[in-house]
Amino acid sequence: MIRKLHNALKNREITSAELVKKAFDDIAEKDGEIQAFLSLRKEKALQRAQEIDEQFEKGREMNMLAGIPYATKDNMCVRGERVTAGSKMLEKYIAPYSATVIERLEASGAVLVGKTNMDEFAMGSSTEKSAYQKTKNPHDTERVPGGSSGGSAASVAGGMVPWSLGSDTGGSIRQPASLCGVVGLKPTYGRVSRWGLLAMASSLDQIGPFATSVEDVACILSEIAGEDSNDATSAQSSGKHYQNFLTGDIKGKKIGIIQEWIDHKGLDPEIRNVVEKAIESFKKLGAEIEYVSMPTLEYAIPAYYIIVPSEVSSNMARYDGIRFGSVTPDAKTILETYTKTRSQNLGSEVKRRIMLGTYTLSAGYYDAYYKKAQKVRALIRKEFERAFVQVDFLFGPTSPEVAFRFGEKSKDPLSMYLSDIYTVTANIAGVPAISFPIGTIQKDGVSLPVGGQLMAKWFDEEGMLCASDAYEKSVSL
Ligand code: GLN
Repeated sequence: MIRKLHNALKNREITSAELVKKAFDDIAEKDGEIQAFLSLRKEKALQRAQEIDEQFEKGREMNMLAGIPYATKDNMCVRGERVTAGSKMLEKYIAPYSATVIERLEASGAVLVGKTNMDEFAMGSSTEKSAYQKTKNPHDTERVPGGSSGGSAASVAGGMVPWSLGSDTGGSIRQPASLCGVVGLKPTYGRVSRWGLLAMASSLDQIGPFATSVEDVACILSEIAGEDSNDATSAQSSGKHYQNFLTGDIKGKKIGIIQEWIDHKGLDPEIRNVVEKAIESFKKLGAEIEYVSMPTLEYAIPAYYIIVPSEVSSNMARYDGIRFGSVTPDAKTILETYTKTRSQNLGSEVKRRIMLGTYTLSAGYYDAYYKKAQKVRALIRKEFERAFVQVDFLFGPTSPEVAFRFGEKSKDPLSMYLSDIYTVTANIAGVPAISFPIGTIQKDGVSLPVGGQLMAKWFDEEGMLCASDAYEKSVSL
């Protein structure tokens, strides 16, 4: 879609102003029901579109994303705009600077139309934990869009914007992409700068795109990737235009299937069938399929749900009503300011993780929990290193089930955590991973999307995108 729009803009068949107006019309028509957006910036977007149109008019060589509207998850700072992270805590907070990704996209000429709903501080898998609204899955409005970047996924799946940005700490791009039937990419840890992203668990967080094709996410990644002096974990830029590496050729590439994942008792058997069909498609493309065993992955969820709350409890300390966060006017002492601000403005899931993390980092329990989880993390990483000696990619389901109904899991945190069984490992290991649509299954007479997940070696986004694109093209032929 991005290439098509770019060519239409270049040939002056359409203007950026028209595209941006259309996005706002679509939002006005659809978002009353879908509730993907938390804020819109109509005037600024239209003004920017006009500037871009003038440059196209002058015949300038323009970037692929120039003039095309997009949305971003509301945990990324945009100077002068509200950034709520889906929390009451930041209801009135205005970002004093823009995230590096936002700056880069601004320089590319992409036009930001608004910010999208999310689980509070990105903790959740359904977007039900937003303090503001419930985003609906465009395929069935009685079901969740997934999370935590549910607003970003629904804004694309609902046809309101061509693409959007999300963040992924344990699956928050890939799982909602899977549940909403769009493509979602989590880059290698370090590929994209996290500067200006409100931190959840800093050693796992990555920003990435949602779009309707693999080529589109490749175009977006090319713009947002690269080193940033404001983020010490960011890696040197490859300087690649990933969209130029989509050759469609994956002959002889080895794709590993993790046996334990396919056999997992929590996996919906109908999803397993869809995944098996996708494996057949990869075979037809000339890829070699190898079944691999990765027994340590069983411990990914327990390790993740120790490491994440530990980092969360530390990152959330800044929301105390003094440094950041809503001020509680009736607090009389400093202690009361802290306790009232935090007890009144944070939701249950965030509080749970702060409590858990404070416990796992406490002097008496650090070794038993946090240190142990870090050891498990090292073992998982090693298991990936071993697997990637044997195979080029790993493929499997993104989510054990399709979009679930509102309320189905929100009362039971453990069942919500299990939605992440296939996604958290890529964050724990730091490898790149992508989710793309591989079919649909029927539930109560509604056809719901199923996503397949492909993971690659550290920094092999190029190979991963090429293989995913080859699959996508083979099924759409
Ligand atoms: N659902 C996972 C969690 O709640 C992942 C969240 C994320 O990736 N931001 O931790």
